[in-house]
Amino acid sequence: MIEEDLDIALEKRLEESQPKYTDREWLNIFPEFKEMIPDKIKELAIERDIVVKEANRKISLIEKHGQTSLGRWFYGEWVRTNEVETVKRLTLEIKRFEWLKYLAGTKEKSKFEEKVLLAREYPILDLVLKHVILKKHGKDWFGLCPFRKEKTPSFSVITKDNFFYCFGCQESGSGIDFIMKIEELSFRRAVERIAIG
Ligand SMILES: [Zn+2]
Repeated sequence: MIEEDLDIALEKRLEESQPKYTDREWLNIFPEFKEMIPDKIKELAIERDIVVKEANRKISLIEKHGQTSLGRWFYGEWVRTNEVETVKRLTLEIKRFEWLKYLAGTKEKSKFEEKVLLAREYPILDLVLKHVILKKHGKDWFGLCPFRKEKTPSFSVITKDNFFYCFGCQESGSGIDFIMKIEELSFRRAVERIAIG
C-alpha cells in the first residue's frame, strides 16, 4: 500500500473509531499512527499559514480597491466568514494531533490528563467573560481583542465549538489556549487554573 493510501486509511479509522474509543485506547490499538503525528502537525500548520496569508491578501485588496464602504464591508465579511471556518477546522485538528502526541509519550492515564479533559469541556465563554466584554450577535459573541489595541471588535467566541478566534491578530484556540495567552501561563498551569475555577 502506498503511503498516501495508508494515510487515508488511518484517518478513516480515526474517524470511525472516535465515538467508540478514547484517544489513549485508540493510540494503543493503532500504534503505527504515533510515527506519523509530528509530520501531520507540520503539514496542518503549513496549510493553516497559507489560508491565513491568502485571507489577509484578499482583505488588503478589498481595502485598497473596494469602491464603496458597503462593498468593502461585504467582501471583507465574506472572506472572514470563510476564513474562520477553515482556520477553526485546521486549528482543532492541530490541537487534536498535539494531544495525541502528548498521550503517545505518556504511559498511563494521569490525574493531569483527567484535568485536561475537564478543562477542555469547560465553557470558554465563562473564561473569556472574566477578561473581555462581549456582545452576542446571532449564535456567537464578539468584543474588542484583549491581545492588542483596537477600535472595532475582531475577537469572537464560538460557543458551539468552545473556540475563540480573532480576525485581527489571528489568535485562536480553546479555553486553555485563551488562558495561556491572556494570563501568560504554561499549558500545565492554565489547565490547573481552569480546574480550580
Ligand atoms: Zn486579536
